[in-house]
Amino acid sequence: MAGNNAKEAQENPLSGLHLLLTYECNYQCEHCFVWGGPSQTGTMTLDTIEQILGQAKALGTIEWIYFEGGEAFLYYDVLVAGIRLAKESGFKVGIVTNAYWATTDADASNWLTPIAGLVDDLSISSDAYHGGDEDPEPPETARRTAQQLGIPVDFISVAEPGAADVPGAAGRLPAGESAVLYRGRAAELLASRVDVKPWEQFTECPWENLREPERVHVDPFGNLHICQGISIGNLLKRPLTEIMRDYDADEHPIVGPLLAGGPAEIVRKYDLPHEDGYADHCHLCYRSRCALRERFPDVLTPDQMYGDS
Ligand code: SF4
Repeated sequence: MAGNNAKEAQENPLSGLHLLLTYECNYQCEHCFVWGGPSQTGTMTLDTIEQILGQAKALGTIEWIYFEGGEAFLYYDVLVAGIRLAKESGFKVGIVTNAYWATTDADASNWLTPIAGLVDDLSISSDAYHGGDEDPEPPETARRTAQQLGIPVDFISVAEPGAADVPGAAGRLPAGESAVLYRGRAAELLASRVDVKPWEQFTECPWENLREPERVHVDPFGNLHICQGISIGNLLKRPLTEIMRDYDADEHPIVGPLLAGGPAEIVRKYDLPHEDGYADHCHLCYRSRCALRERFPDVLTPDQMYGDS
């Protein structure tokens, strides 16, 4: 058995499973990939978390379980129970949060103390989108409290549109900031603020390892996303081991063309109508996928990822 796991680990580099605990969020950020917001629906049950963790264990290569959203702390009881289960199963545990709950030092301590010693990475979203510039305190309060409790903590920041929206330009950004990618809500609300480039030049996916993913996301409905809104299977219908064993990137109706020639190849392969220019690779990819949802309903899902819920 141990030998089998070692072989799988060699052949399958998948080491991170990110659980979208909920699509709900207290914020409705313009740059959000997953259309998180107060009126979004879809939250993972503890039963589903348990089932997913069992599948992750069976795969034999997963090291990290992340809890994210939406905003995972909105469902605190489920989050804490899920963290405990993941830790008991031997995984390292991470959380991504906007830290809205860290209103005072005492409150932050109240939220974080029960998970101190269980969490190996607390990633805090802190930028002009998350709550705006007017209230920078909660992320700072959360970071300070996490450090006092010995929880490894870091900030995630997304730069303003146009700051660096091409691969290789990340070095122009302040340390710790990443560029806006124009998919999800960002495609609808932010893409029009930057100069476009000819659609034919988007000939690769620069951001995801689509052939041999190192981490994938699973949502409350079981959809396994290789990139947000591109499903490669459903964990509530088939086990993760089978999905990963049978995953053939070149045969996947969306990943195949992406590997062959990027978002531009999706347009060509399916003869899609298109604009002359797009803000970035993800903008063309996302728009093309929106146009193909009726044709590939099980792959380009769920409605939440496309702002249709
Ligand atoms: S190009 Fe498409 S698959 Fe690649 S990161 Fe952007 S949206 Fe995802």
